[in-house]
Order: sequence, then structure tokens, then C-alpha cells
Amino acid sequence: MTQSLLLTPQFCSPEQLIRDDILALSPYELHDAQGMVKLDAMENPYRLPFQATAEIGAAAAHVALNRYPDSQGSQLKEALKAAMLVPKDMDILLGNGSDELIQIIAMALAKPGAVLMSVEPSFVMYQRIALYAGMRYVGVPLEGDFALRRARLLSAIAEHRPAVLFLAFPNNPTGNLFERSAVLQTLNANPGLTVLDEAYHPFAQTTFMDELPHHPNLLVMRTLSKLGLAGLRLGFVAGRSEWLAQFEKVRLPYNVSAFTQVAAQMALRDAEVLKTQAQTICADRDSMLRELRSCDRVEVFDSAANFILFRVPRADEVFSALKARGILIKNLNHSHPMLQNCLRVTIGAAEENRRFLLALIESLNEIR
Ligand SMILES: *Cc1c(COP(=O)(O)O)cnc(C)c1O
Repeated sequence: MTQSLLLTPQFCSPEQLIRDDILALSPYELHDAQGMVKLDAMENPYRLPFQATAEIGAAAAHVALNRYPDSQGSQLKEALKAAMLVPKDMDILLGNGSDELIQIIAMALAKPGAVLMSVEPSFVMYQRIALYAGMRYVGVPLEGDFALRRARLLSAIAEHRPAVLFLAFPNNPTGNLFERSAVLQTLNANPGLTVLDEAYHPFAQTTFMDELPHHPNLLVMRTLSKLGLAGLRLGFVAGRSEWLAQFEKVRLPYNVSAFTQVAAQMALRDAEVLKTQAQTICADRDSMLRELRSCDRVEVFDSAANFILFRVPRADEVFSALKARGILIKNLNHSHPMLQNCLRVTIGAAEENRRFLLALIESLNEIR
């Protein structure tokens, strides 16, 4: 018998096996930031003091790398609850970043036809994760100034009965805080779960965390990423254990690495340093808001976060001109009809902000 007579299967192509909705997706776009002033991803420009990272390094040397991490992350949970003022009687669930928590919640709720609702424009991962999990996504438009459209949102809730509503507070990519009374009204009208995503809490000075005991279907989500620990990948969601115990079943047992557990606990001891950094960033945001408002042909939106959304003429060209000058920000033009000609800049260190502003003025003059 010759080799050629053995049956060789007709191997399937990716197009044959991968879900149509995944094939149709474009990859999550990330630009190469090598050598650039990186103001695209809401990172804290400041590192922890070397002393602190050296101590984390020393503690990492004691981590038993041959063992799986503590699946419950019990010590870390206690440290987080204390540091983030989680009301007693409330539980928390740990995620490999809060992106993973959105995914866990969506997977657990994805009954056939179940709806994941958010507002638009908002954090793009809500829609993407709804698709990954096979949930139906409904996006309710915000007002022109990106405020909540109460009546529209309430009627969308009544019509679609979402299993979960995600609201980012402050909102990304717009930077604004929704009116507290509008959020409360929505929360009280939604029979499903409401997740308030407080990723930008370190810069907003306001929270719904203390509302948790008063609302059975409220969850409050936080992350350490924007606070200055994006490399760690750690987020948590706080709420009633009735909910979290169910989500816990969907969480992969060792999703938070042993290094992350140790490093996060140690970094939380430097909470004062992180808090001071956040205060600096807020002050720099406010001066950046003033500077941008004084620029001709720039429309600036208010921000309670560590980034600013603004609109310019011919945003694609401005974005490229900035890039050519070594400044990487986020181009939101084409990402949503309400974000036409909008760009988003993260607040960096003072020198980075200055370079950005100079480059922006030059770029605007160039395309005049
Ligand atoms: C950045 C961001 C997150 C995700 O942060 P992780 O790094 O995954 O913890 C979640 N929600 C919003 C609104 C964000 O902007």
C-alpha cells in the first residue's frame, strides 16, 4: 500500500469553523507606541517609588511558583474591601482586569435572547463581550452632550427587559459623570442587574459603592488599572453574595495570578502615593481642560476622569499629524456617529501634556 492511499482529511479553513460574527469582527486596534509620548490608554504616567517596587520584587521572590495561586484570593479580597470602602455584608469577586468581570457576568447571564444593555457612546467592550457571550446587545443613545437620556433609557429598559445594564461612571470615552439622580432613577426602574463601572473612580471623587446595601440588583465594578497598576490586571466587582456566588462558578479557578495577588496587596499599602498621583493627574486635567478650551477650532467636553474628549476639524488628519510628531492619542472618529471628529487624550506627566498641546496647535495650523 502506498502513502497516497491513506486517507488525508480535507482540513477545514478558519472561515469554515469560526463563528460568522467573530469572522466579521475587526481586531481590537492597538497602535505601536514605541518611542512615542503614549497618551492613548488612560494609563497613570507615574510609577510607584522604586523602594515600593523593589519590595514587591523581594516579596515576589517568596512566591511558590510551583503551586497554583490561592483560588479564593482571600487575603487580597480583605485588603481590597478595606481599601475601597466596600460596605460590610457585601461580597467581592476578583477578575483578571475588570474586562474579565464583564465577560464573567455576560457568560452567566447569556440565556437565549438575553439582553446586555448599555448607553452609546460608551466603553466598547460591553458590546464586544455581549457578542462573545452570545447576548443580544442594545445600545441606548446619550444626549448630544453625553448626558443620560432618562426617558429613552427607561422606555428601552421596559421594552427590552435587559438581563444587565452597564453604565460607566464616569463614562468612557466621553469623560463625563451622569447625573446621580438619573442613575438612581434608572437603577430603581431596572428589574435586571445594573453594573456601575467605576473604572475612573480615582479621578471622580464620587461613587455608588455606599448605595450597594439599598439596591438588591446593583453591582459596583472597580479596577486598579487606571489608578496606576494597569500591568497587574486586577479588577473586582462588589455586590450581594447571592449574585456573586453564581458568577463565581463561571470564574476560572486561578484567574488572578500569585504575583498579582502579592503585588496588589503590597501596592495597596502605598495607597497614599497612588492617591497623591491621582490628585496631580486631576489638577493637570483641569489645566489641560483650560488650555484646550482656549484653542481655536477645538470643542472640549468636560471630564471627571484622567482623559479628555475633544472635537477638531478633520480629526483623522490631526491624529496623523500628532503621530508624526511622536504623540499617540486615541482617534474615535468612525467609532460612533456621535463621536465624529473626536479624539481622546489621556492626561500624562506635565512634560508630556505640554508636548501634546504644542503638537496639537502645530497640527491644527498644518491642516488649516
Ligand atoms: C479601562 C476600562 C475598563 C477595563 O479595565 P481593566 O484594565 O480590564 O480592569 C473597564 N471599564 C471602563 C469603562 C474602562 O475605561
